[in-house]
Amino acid sequence: MALYVHKYGGTSVADPERIETVAKKIITAKSHGDDIVVVVSAMSGETNRLTDLAHTIQASPNSRELDVLLSTGEQVTIALLCMALEKHGQPAQPYTGSQVRIITDSSHCKARIIEIETKRILSDLKQGKVAVVAGFQGVNEAGEITTLGRGGSDTTAVALAAALKATECRIFTDVNGVYTTDPRVEPKARKLSHITFEEMLEMASLGSKVLQIRSVEFAGKYNVPLRVLSTFTEGEGTLITTEETTVEQALISGIAFNRDEAQLTAKGVPDRPGIAAKILGPIADANIEVDMIVQNTAEDNTTDFTFTVHRNDCIKALEVLESTCNELGARQASSDDSIVKVSLVGVGMRSHAGIAARMFRELAKENINIRMISTSEIKVSVVIDEKYLELAVRSLHQAFDLEATPEHAPVYC
Ligand code: ASP
Ligand code: MG
Repeated sequence: MALYVHKYGGTSVADPERIETVAKKIITAKSHGDDIVVVVSAMSGETNRLTDLAHTIQASPNSRELDVLLSTGEQVTIALLCMALEKHGQPAQPYTGSQVRIITDSSHCKARIIEIETKRILSDLKQGKVAVVAGFQGVNEAGEITTLGRGGSDTTAVALAAALKATECRIFTDVNGVYTTDPRVEPKARKLSHITFEEMLEMASLGSKVLQIRSVEFAGKYNVPLRVLSTFTEGEGTLITTEETTVEQALISGIAFNRDEAQLTAKGVPDRPGIAAKILGPIADANIEVDMIVQNTAEDNTTDFTFTVHRNDCIKALEVLESTCNELGARQASSDDSIVKVSLVGVGMRSHAGIAARMFRELAKENINIRMISTSEIKVSVVIDEKYLELAVRSLHQAFDLEATPEHAPVYC
């Protein structure tokens, strides 16, 4: 007998009707003879509503109190789903995070799971019950309620699957899988039947927001097979697993992009030891995260230094950079927030040379100027002008043969 953890996100439990649909799905899964543990999110919009409510009382509420408030969203859903299951004849047991004993550290609003007790859930399963667990929440050693950060129910599901040694963790959501790229940018995007943890991490951290990044890291670390699939349409979804277990590896799995970055440049910086630290130190001190960094080779004892930060940090980063440039006697500091980062992702790159060159050739054909480049073992990223995003994604998608065959065409819900 297999054990599956199912996770249903906010849109899947958005109203009583959808909760009943979910209950029926669970009952069907159970009728195949498997054990099912369910993790649910708050009903869609609820966590935002509760956050707004807190802010009507206090501009920056204490995170401990905020956790007490936000965790109620998921508590509502476990109760309603258990009622729906029981109404349809399926015994069920609701659990808040603290009732399971999902023990976390004490970093309220962004807690990390330390340990999960499985005794009570396993005994429910033995009695033929479905255990329904509130996602996104836990309890610290002192007995205080904690939450895991926005989107944290995915992490609850994966952590439970790891603790219960589940066959698979199934994330039911409002899309039917992970796509080669965003179908809103390239309508010919294809649903992937499988992708590796590593590739998914790259895709997720670059803005394809199907799963909380931390849940993918967790699944990779504990080797929990993860499947993303739709609550509303039938299908196999996308299986996320290790490289070794995937049968046939495509060269490129997908194209990710990130519209949230801005580029900063310091021109004519004196070229001497310690300059990179002098430029980036104050940026880090201002709590600004840096993504890509490029330093040119020096000419006339000066060099140019370019880096990217989150777009929201652009103005602050420029202020910091201007003052560093003055101090160092650099020629000029400037910023540009009309850029995007486009990345090709694929573990197949490890064994194939020339992917980057091919990517650059395709962009050149479209007359797209590349402003920055960075590479890793499984990724090539370029920074280009924002206005070329669609053109770049579509031409790369076609050049690398990622297009959909009819059976893999996107399904919109
Ligand atoms: N309800 C939480 C949120 O909206 C957790 C989750 O849905 O995963 O972020
Ligand atoms: Mg959610």
